[in-house]
Amino acid sequence: MEEIYKELVAIVGERYVSNQPEEKFIYSRDPGTMEPSEPDFAVMPASTEEVRELMLLANRKKIPVVPMGGGLVLSGLSRPLKGGIVVDMKRMNHVLEVNEKSRYAIVEAGTSQGMLQAYLKKHHPSLKHSVPDAPPIATVGGNVLIHGSGHLSHAAGFHSEMLNGIEAVLPTGEIVRVGSCSTSPYWFSRAPLPDLAGLFLGWAGTTGIATKLAIKLFPNRALNDVAIFVVEDAELAPDIIHRITGVGLAEDVTAWMAPKPDWAEGFIHVNINYSADSKDELAWKKNLLRSPLKKYMDAKTGGFMMLPPPMKKPFLEAPASQLTRFADVRKGGGFEYVGAIMPVELFPKAHQAGLDIAARCGTTYSTGARILGMGHCMMFFYAYPFNRADAADVKRAQTALEETNRAALDMGGIPWKAEAPAQKHIIKRMDKHTFELMNRIRGILDPNGIMNPGNWEAD
Ligand SMILES: Cc1cc2nc3c(=O)[nH]c(=O)nc-3n(C[C@H](O)[C@H](O)[C@H](O)COP(=O)(O)OP(=O)(O)OC[C@H]3O[C@@H](n4cnc5c(N)ncnc54)[C@H](O)[C@@H]3O)c2cc1C
Repeated sequence: MEEIYKELVAIVGERYVSNQPEEKFIYSRDPGTMEPSEPDFAVMPASTEEVRELMLLANRKKIPVVPMGGGLVLSGLSRPLKGGIVVDMKRMNHVLEVNEKSRYAIVEAGTSQGMLQAYLKKHHPSLKHSVPDAPPIATVGGNVLIHGSGHLSHAAGFHSEMLNGIEAVLPTGEIVRVGSCSTSPYWFSRAPLPDLAGLFLGWAGTTGIATKLAIKLFPNRALNDVAIFVVEDAELAPDIIHRITGVGLAEDVTAWMAPKPDWAEGFIHVNINYSADSKDELAWKKNLLRSPLKKYMDAKTGGFMMLPPPMKKPFLEAPASQLTRFADVRKGGGFEYVGAIMPVELFPKAHQAGLDIAARCGTTYSTGARILGMGHCMMFFYAYPFNRADAADVKRAQTALEETNRAALDMGGIPWKAEAPAQKHIIKRMDKHTFELMNRIRGILDPNGIMNPGNWEAD
């Protein structure tokens, strides 16, 4: 181990390697319920070349390598389950290029959401990226690679669908480029080439380390507004969502259900966020987005909430700070949610499952959904905050999460960024040849099994 420490120092410099207990403690956990698991080393490379040298060393010595961005995935995917080297990407945090005309940004993978947002605001105020509601320290790489979603996902789908190209270091040390950047100086698209981005998306860091990414940018319009449609009967939600998404003018459509504040209990709130360049355009969009819901207003089964400007403010923030505050509602900093990707018609079942699980597990509920890509599917989330210092509270959240993962699979959804135990449930239901193909691909890319081992493995 002393020998490896010296080699790591030779690659990234002494300041950026640690095998000290305090750092090992920090890198062994995330804010979710998964048990901590300590690395042998944490390193912070500053360049693709350093990442390559780290991979070559780890591959030679057959030591696990665990890529990490903000460490905020919540489901423990950057915990080093089998020890080894955590590669913390936060020093690779530069915005390398913004192409205004073709609307994309090339960033180093460790660039945080907050940094990119601030950079665009300062240097390219006419453009924005799709911001997830994660705390701003979450990285662009970590989020895109887990199929994250955010404030423009209604308009443009998962963040992985907004990916134009990747530079990645393979476990065997080769640096590859995927997308147009493999062939052209422009990172404009993944088409028309064979799409190899899938080798890195959704794999939980088990196929390589992304070092650069290009993501799509969108017009940042001057005026933003939100309308909230409220309905009591969950059975109506799929049609309401279908009608709103059919208009095609919203940027973000989200639903939320929670017993607090008191006025919210028992209702489904559908937030419709939209933007415009002028007041006339905003009014025009507002009318068009409201008109398909007239049927429900006439029947008095649903209606728009009165929203004075101060009440609108938190619903217009990106990221929504309410969520981060909710994450600490039980104090102690524990927070995890199951976000299950499923078709929109499962909304009533998913909602009922959340209420049932919360009642059975004696925990409060906070559920909701982000509608992805014009209603093509949704990420339905079940959030459970807990106090880390209270073992019984942690256990309660763990049980609720486990039950939620099973319920999501039973109804036909698939847990997103699943914890290692939930990955095993997914694998059990997955087509056998698909899982064999995953293993074959992994075997080719990572012959020594060094990349984030313990993830995407059957029992
Ligand atoms: C309050 C709260 C709200 C949230 N809201 C949202 C939301 O609205 N939308 C959303 O999408 N998510 C949300 N999340 C979930 C999560 O925080 C984000 O998805 C986050 O972007 C994950 O990024 P990260 O940099 O923290 O990734 P990490 O946790 O560091 O890593 C995630 C996974 O990616 C791998 N990885 C990281 N970097 C690399 C790399 N460079 N190369 C290869 N593999 C890599 C890791 O090994 C791990 O498997 C929320 C979380 C919280 C706490």
